[in-house]
Amino acid sequence: MGLLALGTALDWPDAKQKAHLVRAWGIKQLLEIWNKAKGKERDAMLWGDEIEYLVVNYSKDDAKVLLSLRQADILKALADSKTLKVTGDCAPGTEANGDAGNVTLPVFHPEFGRFMLEATPGKPWGIDFKDLLTVEADMKLRRCIAKDHMLPNEHPITLTTFPRIGSPGVFTEPSYPVSGPKLRSQFVPDEIANPHIRFPTLAANIRSRRGRKVQVNVPVFRDENTPWPWKDPTVNYDLHNWPEDDDVRNGAAPDNFIHMDAMAFGMGSCCLQITFQAKNITEGRKMYDQLSPLGPILLALTAATPVYKGFLADTDVRWNQISRAVDDRTPEEMGEKPLKNDRWRIPKSRYASNSTYISTDSRLRPEYMDPNLVIDPEIKQQLLDGGMDDRLATHFAHLFIRDPIVIFNEDLQELDLTKTDHFENIQSTNWQHMRFKPPPADNSIGWRVEFRPMEIQITDFENAAFSVFIVLITRAILSFDLNFYIPIVKVDENMETAHARNANLEKKFWFRKNPFPVRTTRRGGSTSRSASGASTPNGGPSRPATPPLGPVEDEYRLMSVNEVINGTAYAKATSKEVTEDAEEGEEFPGLIPLVESYLDSVNMDVATRCGLARYLDLIRKRASGELWTAARWIRDFIARHPEYKKDSVVSEEITKDLVGAVIAIGEREKCGLGIDDLIGQVPDLEKLFGNFLKGKSPCGGGQAALEQELKD
Ligand code: ADP
Ligand code: MG
Ligand code: MG
Ligand code: MG
Ligand code: MG
Ligand code: MG
Repeated sequence: MGLLALGTALDWPDAKQKAHLVRAWGIKQLLEIWNKAKGKERDAMLWGDEIEYLVVNYSKDDAKVLLSLRQADILKALADSKTLKVTGDCAPGTEANGDAGNVTLPVFHPEFGRFMLEATPGKPWGIDFKDLLTVEADMKLRRCIAKDHMLPNEHPITLTTFPRIGSPGVFTEPSYPVSGPKLRSQFVPDEIANPHIRFPTLAANIRSRRGRKVQVNVPVFRDENTPWPWKDPTVNYDLHNWPEDDDVRNGAAPDNFIHMDAMAFGMGSCCLQITFQAKNITEGRKMYDQLSPLGPILLALTAATPVYKGFLADTDVRWNQISRAVDDRTPEEMGEKPLKNDRWRIPKSRYASNSTYISTDSRLRPEYMDPNLVIDPEIKQQLLDGGMDDRLATHFAHLFIRDPIVIFNEDLQELDLTKTDHFENIQSTNWQHMRFKPPPADNSIGWRVEFRPMEIQITDFENAAFSVFIVLITRAILSFDLNFYIPIVKVDENMETAHARNANLEKKFWFRKNPFPVRTTRRGGSTSRSASGASTPNGGPSRPATPPLGPVEDEYRLMSVNEVINGTAYAKATSKEVTEDAEEGEEFPGLIPLVESYLDSVNMDVATRCGLARYLDLIRKRASGELWTAARWIRDFIARHPEYKKDSVVSEEITKDLVGAVIAIGEREKCGLGIDDLIGQVPDLEKLFGNFLKGKSPCGGGQAALEQELKD
């Protein structure tokens, strides 16, 4: 999240009038930075993660766990404590111990939900493999420092969503009445959003542009005692405060779906994002394309979102819910009414999987592109006239079909080409699963690519593991010039597939059969194509002609997550839920083996390699089903809770114990206990949390006692 400018935010009817101006100025700013930065070379290979937290108010003596709305106070406390005191408690045994001078202190950011917090490392990580082993300690440090600036009963936790947000009764501290003027939600109060004017305006203008409230409907999980057809019992059909209260009377809440009606249900979710800096724009564009097809796979593998508004959902991930929670399309744009006032039909929400490839890679076949991509042709022409190439111009002309949602009047006095604010206005409200980030106006840093689909994990060990994995696969992609291209519409399809319960084990995803680059060689006068580890020469007039490529459909097939991650042989040996149907010669090597080959190819000491192996092992076992996703773990926790009546209802008591367990896991991780053997498999709750739930410190008695306790 960028700096939060202050000013007068325009309501939708006024903002709409200015949308064209903001787009026009945004494009000018983009061309300015593009011209300045397109030739930038040799930027350092940097990367950084973002961790988002929910802040909960939990005490074993209270009947329920609540979301704490003290984000502003917590951020202020963090900002006020000059050195963000790093105590021995926060960083036992690390270089940070007791001396804040030795560590780069993390940075804390506000988020949409007033119950959320974001933390990033104090500065991005570098190329050094040691950084990959530091990130976990840094994540723990961030969590610990955050906790140190909270009230004793407040805890930063990394569940993607709060299980009972929007449920009847009290779920925040303090509590406010629902049905406020900005969100007009019948489930959550306006005070659920960060009070900075940007956020309520964002929510209100999305609603206003749509002409009704957002509709976030998630299929409910049908358990043995779930009444069927199921009618969301929390929907109020008799509310008459706002015109939007008619939405549910007009069919917004269909049977068998959990119904939600506000941005907070989506943007109140926590995720794990990784940003890379490329050495130049060409490399950045390649990273963007090659990481794209990995998005749905990593979404399925990090699945952690099985509960909404107090009910078990029939999906495992947050993605579509956020998509719907910020979907500002009008009925005309959605194709519900003939086009009259709007310019085009738009198939996807502004929060969705990305729709174009942008690389200059000669392996990018036109067939991979979406033939129905909606772009603004005038914007594209301006970019072309400004010297931008067709592919990149197409990408931005697609992002710029959207209106700016939040416009500050003060920013419309004159165009300032030393800024990128208008460009960023459109760019940063296109929430796609990859983001191509141009340098800032001062050109001080390089071209960056952000990988955005992953769900936040309960422990920092897991968050570090997924971060490290994405970094390593990115390096393998660049080092071996790997090719993961499939048609972009197949990536969309995979994104849908990733939502299914246990998709990581039970579903199949489109994936490219051969990830190796194809080299064009000349043999005895004829040209042949062969797969090899060498880089692909650019095709050009002076090069030998390449024989025609086969049909695109022959390049990819359906694979399980296990096969994609671990390779065909491993998957055949370990898959339980699905059969692998690779044919002779179609064996996929697997992303982990590719990473291992990459690691074999670089100099690395044994300790570092072993450290990385811990993380790769988690990914490997998650993909094979040996370890569970958080979604499955949470479902299991709920199913075995004595209060659960097999009716899909996640009660206040269950929620309290679930959050308690999550806090306890965090405490154990903080004590330096090996939680990696405990998460992701059938949890023995008494052993895991017995002490904690009895109100004793899980660290009490020392590590030895705990390890003994776990063995018993
Ligand atoms: P946003 O919220 O817009 O995605 P943030 O400012 O929260 O962006 O930062 C995203 C991540 O990018 C952070 O981990 C940060 O450390 C990292 N980062 C900052 N500068 C660079 C850079 N030059 N190259 C790569 N990553 C960077
Ligand atoms: Mg951020
Ligand atoms: Mg952000
Ligand atoms: Mg964020
Ligand atoms: Mg967010
Ligand atoms: Mg980000």
